[in-house]
Amino acid sequence: MKCAECGKEMIMKNKTYVANLENCVIVIKNVPAYICSCGEAYYSDEVFERLEQIVMTLKQVINDVAVVDYTKAA
Ligand SMILES: [Zn+2]
Repeated sequence: MKCAECGKEMIMKNKTYVANLENCVIVIKNVPAYICSCGEAYYSDEVFERLEQIVMTLKQVINDVAVVDYTKAA
């Protein structure tokens, strides 16, 4: 996987994903992502779909800040 910004090889790493919604903030830890040394991050389609599912589910039950672990929410 090459970086779309600078062309360097990206490294698979765990990253914290933050979704800022209208009435809440959802923090998802340990999300597998491709990270570049320039700061670019890329999630695979599978991971991104899973993130959306977690966000959709959580935003119906919280109205503040939620912190979840991707590896445990999956
Ligand atoms: Zn890059």
